[in-house]
Order: sequence, then structure tokens, then C-alpha cells
Amino acid sequence: MKSLLGKLNREHSLELEEYQLLIENINPDLMKLAAEYAVKYQKEYYGNKVFIRGLVEFTNYCKNDCFYCGIRRDNRECERYRLRMDDIISCADEGYKLGFRTVVLQGGEDLAFKDQDICNIIKGIKAAHPDMVVTLSIGERDHDSYQAYFDAGADRYLLRHETANPELYARLHPGEMSFLHRMNCLQDLKNIGYQVGAGFMVQSPGQTARDLAMDLKFIEEFKPDMCGIGPFISHKDTPFAKEKSGTLEMTLFLLSLLRIIYPQMLIPATTALGTIDPRGREKGILAGANVVMPNLSPTSVRKMYTLYDNKICTGEEAAECINCLKGRVSSVGYEIVEDAGDRVGFYK
Ligand code: SAH
Repeated sequence: MKSLLGKLNREHSLELEEYQLLIENINPDLMKLAAEYAVKYQKEYYGNKVFIRGLVEFTNYCKNDCFYCGIRRDNRECERYRLRMDDIISCADEGYKLGFRTVVLQGGEDLAFKDQDICNIIKGIKAAHPDMVVTLSIGERDHDSYQAYFDAGADRYLLRHETANPELYARLHPGEMSFLHRMNCLQDLKNIGYQVGAGFMVQSPGQTARDLAMDLKFIEEFKPDMCGIGPFISHKDTPFAKEKSGTLEMTLFLLSLLRIIYPQMLIPATTALGTIDPRGREKGILAGANVVMPNLSPTSVRKMYTLYDNKICTGEEAAECINCLKGRVSSVGYEIVEDAGDRVGFYK
């Protein structure tokens, strides 16, 4: 297995079967070697710097019914909220004061926000803070909408592909949702000129080593600017309530493999990783991640944006969140920087 890792380290590419073998044979020695290779690239391109993105969860209304997600349409237990435009802009203002130079507007697929509304929010943030990078994470829309947001000033877009295997996709989502449509959205976003974030859940129900190998192969070929991964974590009011959550070990190993596959990629240590282990995000950085995404949502709505059970950081104010993370990041020898945090090599 070590020689396979060596090959990946030289060529940044493996056959699907080879990725699968690595995943099937995960063990502490292999994880350690993968993290060594990964950290070498992380340091080469990003030094000991960790980028921050301020997450504003601006609506939990969603027209979709993804089986794993706590804010799915059919979850009647979920209390719904939607922030007003000036509240969203205030979150960005607060983030700016705290040193954030990029804000991520994330939400369920809430059609109450028309394209024009999204464009106005983007323009409002840009008018107040011309040097603030705006990232959207609002799911699948059509090409012209994506183009309109881009023209209004949006810089980046996060849309996890969730799984690169169409069959698994169909088991995680209701029939009205389409794997091909999601993949086409990612391609549209890239063509328009966004910095694009893809990503997948680790050990979602029924996922095999082969499926994860397909995710790695997809990332190797699509080369998104960012790849966000986190363990699947069950949510009590979803069809997957009784399913097992993903593990820390597999997530860390995959983080390292992703860094080796595409050394310059932006890779977050996600909140889900921090949820399954109290030092999950620190361990993620030591495995090769270089981004954290603290929450800037108003405290009053945090608990309502529950994608999975036991989500961390739902009680703190934004300032507390960033201070806590600064301490965590420095405890492992890294440093949070006040920077928009483009991918190395990205030019508009
Ligand atoms: N509606 C937007 C934002 C989705 S929420 C969109 O469609 O892109 C952001 C991410 O949370 C999802 O892409 C998914 O990968 C992750 N997520 C949702 N439910 C989860 C769960 N139960 N466990 C772990 N991650 C989950």
C-alpha cells in the first residue's frame, strides 16, 4: 500500500481500483504516511496559514428532500426561518470587522429568494466592502441565474457533488433529484468563471470503498478549486435517523489523499469533522486541510440550521467562534490569516 501512496505522490493520479485499494486498506501507518505527504504540499503552497470563511446560513427553507439532511422539505419538526437582506448584510459587516475577507451565503434551496434578491444581497455586501469575496452555496439553479449572480459580483460557489456514483446518488436523494443536473451545475459554474467548491459526504449510508474511490477520481479529473468533505452524521428527523455516522479516521485519510491528488486545492476542516471529534478540525489541518469556516449567522437562528444532530458552535457569538478557532489553529502550529484566501494559481 505504501508504494501505491508513493505513486500517488509522484503522479497525483491513480486508477480507480488503486484508490479503492488504498481506502480498503486504511490503517494508522498508511494514514501517517499520507498525512506526511499531504502536509508537505500544504506547507509548500500555503505555509502555516489557515484561511477563514464566514458562514452565513441565511435560510433553512428548502424545496429539496435529501434523505440525509435535517432541513429537508418533509421535516415537519424543523422550525423554519429566513433572514432579511439587511440582516444578511449586517452579518457580513460584523464578519468584516472580525477580519473576514470572505463570506459564504449558504441556505436551503429557497425559491422565495429570487435571482434579483440574491443579486441585491451580493451588491449590498460588495458596496459596503469592495474587498470582500462573496461565495454562494444555494444549491442547483440554472445557468442564467448563476451568470446573473456572477455578473452581480459573486466570486465563488460551493456545490458539493455529494457522491460521484449516480447509483448511490439515487439512494441518497428522492427520484425528482438528478445526479446529472447537479454535475451539469458544477460544470456551468466552472465555465462561468467562479472558483468552484465540490465535495462529498464520507461514509454516507450504503457508501462503499468503490464509491469513495469514484469521488477521488472525480476530484482528480474535475479539479475544483475547493473540495469540502465531512463525515455523514445522522439527523433524528430524517429517513437516515438510525444510520451510522462516518468516522474520524476515514475522513482524515481522505483529506490527506485529496491534498496529494491536487496539492493547491483549498480543503476545509469542516464543522461536521469538529462535531464527531472535539479536536476534529485541528486533526483535519494536521492531515492537510487549510481552511476553516466559522459561523457568522445570528445566534438566534443557529440552532434551526441543523443539517445533522449535535452540530457544534450553535450557541456562540461570531466573535467567540473566531477566537475559539484562532486558539485551536495555533495549538497545532498554524495561524489564521486575514485574507480572502484564493486558491494558489487562480486568476480571474
Ligand atoms: N442547499 C445547499 C447547501 C447544502 S448544506 C446545496 O444544495 O448545496 C451543505 C452540505 O451539508 C451539503 O452539501 C451536504 O454535503 C452536507 N450535509 C447535509 N446533511 C448532512 C448530514 N446529515 N451529515 C453530514 N453532512 C451533511
